[in-house]
Amino acid sequence: LAMSSVSVPPPKCLQKTFVAPRRHMFGPGPSNVPPRILAAGAEPVIGHMHPEMLEIMSDIKSGIQYAFQTENNMTIAVSGTGHTAMECAIFNAVEPGEGVLTAVNGIWGERAAEMAERIGAKVNSIVTTAGGYFTSEEIDQALAKHKPVLFFLTHGESSTGVVHPLDGIGDICHKHNCLFLVDCVASMGGAPLYMDKQGIDILYSGSQKVLNAPPGTAPISFSERACQKVFNRKTKPVSFFLDMTWLANYWGCDGKPARIYHHTAPVSAFYALRESLAILAEQGLENSWQRHREVAEYLHEGVENMGLKLFVKDKNARLPTVTTIVAPPGYDWKEITSYIMKNHNLEISGGLGPSVGQVLRVGLMGGNSSKASVDMVLEALRDALRYCHKSKV
Ligand code: PMP
Repeated sequence: LAMSSVSVPPPKCLQKTFVAPRRHMFGPGPSNVPPRILAAGAEPVIGHMHPEMLEIMSDIKSGIQYAFQTENNMTIAVSGTGHTAMECAIFNAVEPGEGVLTAVNGIWGERAAEMAERIGAKVNSIVTTAGGYFTSEEIDQALAKHKPVLFFLTHGESSTGVVHPLDGIGDICHKHNCLFLVDCVASMGGAPLYMDKQGIDILYSGSQKVLNAPPGTAPISFSERACQKVFNRKTKPVSFFLDMTWLANYWGCDGKPARIYHHTAPVSAFYALRESLAILAEQGLENSWQRHREVAEYLHEGVENMGLKLFVKDKNARLPTVTTIVAPPGYDWKEITSYIMKNHNLEISGGLGPSVGQVLRVGLMGGNSSKASVDMVLEALRDALRYCHKSKV
């Protein structure tokens, strides 16, 4: 027997072929990827600096400008998930020692605060209950008190199911000489959002929610005001990978004739992202917003007709993409989500952060936003409530 030089044998588990299960992805994300987007992602890989790729990146930029309703030149997709875009925003806009204010009405304001702390920013937060949101007065007062350079707000709080009002907040931030950073990972395409009109300075999203693309790319855009700060820093951002000076060049946003290699773009993921933005453009943003609202209202009605309660009391504050249902009293929420996965091949999820144990979350995003999906969710829930264990108390 010939001696082998390798001591770790080829793993047996890799001899089996993997086939992904077919599931209804009705949790807070990722959502189902339609065949057209899957097919785009399966096109042959080309070089990350080939002219066709640069054209695709330019198309993606236009698609994001449409989805964000912005004319910002500094509009790109980050190679990474929503968290990557979050860090890109904070790492580029804030220098060590500067002040950041985050609005916490769920997990995302907490995460933004932690990211800012990690780069040595002075972080303050305003906090409200899960399911609630902030008034303009509260934000105005907190900005006056803490005088941050950056204010973070989540438009679609996926952990609690709240859509935060945005009108007027940009002006308040600018009055206090502060940049307005908004997370629209869970809301973009599903709820009205106007980056330029609403005075948002930095806006980022994700690929795997309303866009129905695979996770792994994240749209982000910087206003002129944000660029003034980002490109006039005294210190370099801590991350080379997320340095907007590099990324702006790589995305052809810096006006320089030559593009310099920064990292190997996830080529297939960009194909898929481009296709997902093309679908949104074909459908029309306003149609998409309206459909998500109507489908969410249909879900709300069905849930209440079953005797269940919605977690967000204020109707106008209900996020159309992710609905939070008060965890049915007497039941173990984990048994419900597991039962539905096992018997209906359908994902809904429990809470996250401050809503853990309190809610079930149903996400109907992009192509999943339809009355037929709602009917499936309601049927699954009805079935689960019938067969899962209910305590007598
Ligand atoms: N912000 C919000 C509002 C989200 O819902 C999510 C994803 N659940 C993220 C940020 C983070 O995105 P990712 O998981 O793609 O990093």
